[in-house]
Amino acid sequence: MERIRAARGSALRCKGWRQEALLRMLENVLENGENQQELVVYAALAKAARDWKSFHAIVDSLKTLNDDETLVIQSGKPIGIFKTHVFAPIVIMANCNLVGRWATSEHFYQLQEKGLIIWGGLTAAAWQYIGSQGVIQGTYEIFSAIARKHFNGNLAGRFILTAGLGGMGGAQPLAGVMANAAILCVEVDEARVDKRMQVGYLQRKTADLDEALAWIAEAQARKSSISIGLLGNAAEIYPEILRRGIVPDIVTDQTSAHDLLYGYVPAGYSLKDVRRMREENPEKLQGDARASIAREVEAMLEFKRRGSIVFDNGNNIRTQAYQHGVKEAFDIDIFTEAFLRPLFCRAIGPFRWVALSGDPQDIQAIDQFILQEFSDNEIATNWIRLASKYVPFEGLPARIGWFGHGERTRLALAVNRMVREGKLSGPIAFSRDHLDAGAMAHPNIMTERMKDGSDAIADWPLLNAMLNCSSMADLVTIHSGGGGYSGYMTSAGVTIVADGTAEADMRLKHTLDNDTGIGVLRYADAGYEEALDEVNKKGIRRVLT
Ligand code: NAD
Repeated sequence: MERIRAARGSALRCKGWRQEALLRMLENVLENGENQQELVVYAALAKAARDWKSFHAIVDSLKTLNDDETLVIQSGKPIGIFKTHVFAPIVIMANCNLVGRWATSEHFYQLQEKGLIIWGGLTAAAWQYIGSQGVIQGTYEIFSAIARKHFNGNLAGRFILTAGLGGMGGAQPLAGVMANAAILCVEVDEARVDKRMQVGYLQRKTADLDEALAWIAEAQARKSSISIGLLGNAAEIYPEILRRGIVPDIVTDQTSAHDLLYGYVPAGYSLKDVRRMREENPEKLQGDARASIAREVEAMLEFKRRGSIVFDNGNNIRTQAYQHGVKEAFDIDIFTEAFLRPLFCRAIGPFRWVALSGDPQDIQAIDQFILQEFSDNEIATNWIRLASKYVPFEGLPARIGWFGHGERTRLALAVNRMVREGKLSGPIAFSRDHLDAGAMAHPNIMTERMKDGSDAIADWPLLNAMLNCSSMADLVTIHSGGGGYSGYMTSAGVTIVADGTAEADMRLKHTLDNDTGIGVLRYADAGYEEALDEVNKKGIRRVLT
């Protein structure tokens, strides 16, 4: 079958740019994904569409869709086209939402087997994935926050130990280098190591732990940055590093530990063994994966006792270990609560834009605009400088930037004007990660230990999605967890297209203001000072009860 690649240039295959934009975004997630043949984009099992029949039906629907129609998608399968109106979303989706008591991984796998459901990850089925770049600023901001809190603002000479070089974890080596650290990434699959080297996210590879540790020590002594991919299993390598008495400065893990059947590779297994066991004895495979995760987390806990800064990077690794009897697993901090919550309180989070023309100069022009017009925004300008120097484009040129309430609207309206005035070679699609202020309930990641105890309340992402529909967004989606995330989370995604029109000004303004507005209110409602301050500063209309 022919490889899917996102269309570039100015020729439209659809009836307008809004439809064409979403079609290119769909193609782009597959172009950048980890396993196109299976429609898998990242995180072991996160898919762009239910199956190839659904993919082609979506493409055909987008090509014929009128401006006043809405395509409805259920778990990656197009269901129908409805007459709505020109200010309604072009696409709405619900992916992987199971009724409470049925939201277990066993149920999910059964339904998936029957072809009734897929897990969409966050950005896979929402057609928003932009390659490893999508998560890189988040990873960089975490490293920087740790540097500020524990290492006098600088990670030069510091050793970061992590694992997983997949669709998201692949951002770690580059983020580590950008933060000046020496970073060692353990990965079982050589093809993943090679892919990160090819795209310029990883500098060196080895299968020899001695060699890897020697390179790290050398870089530490010279206080220079380095990224190393070590071919090996984290459940074996972490305890071995511990046995040698080496204590990294920072320890985390970004393997697909959330999924025991398709994600985490148990110690002693080859990739072939995993595929065979998935067919022959899935229970044993899952049991072995959980036991290996427990070993790895025990090592992480011991690193913490010996002084490393250890955190869970959003892959449910603590939950898996806890279920295997590692009672202290939750002594490890979650990155959101430990480092990012003060930003989320102001709805500062991962905002993204994609150049639909395929022209990298469009992104560079927006970079320049941000450096000039947002010069007082230190987070954004520092990032744009680093990203334009270090981050290679994958698929359609794109950028991520952590912007907050009001700033996103200001940027998007300016970009829409640039499209209108012909300063960019094509329209730009804006979206943001689901891991954003008002858009996710996940009591073990996003909403762990909320001040008011509202961790498990999923009303917020549902309200966020409905509000974005009411605010004229182009694509709105509601996701829940699948596989090992089943029953653990609900989130919402949104995409808006800046095609240079006056209608796009309206869509962008209402959607972006309201999307971040409800994000700030979510934290204000929970009693966070920073959010209450933001409500006052930005004049967000909060109803007091
Ligand atoms: P992926 O499936 O694309 O990659 C996971 C990688 O881990 C694979 O390359 C796999 O070979 C490797 N791996 C599995 N078991 C291993 C082991 N025992 N030792 C070493 N390597 C092993 O997944 P991804 O997209 O990179 O996501 C990784 C995890 O991060 C997922 O759980 C995902 O849900 C989570 N995630 C977190 C954030 C965040 O914001 N922090 C964002 C996206 C994804």
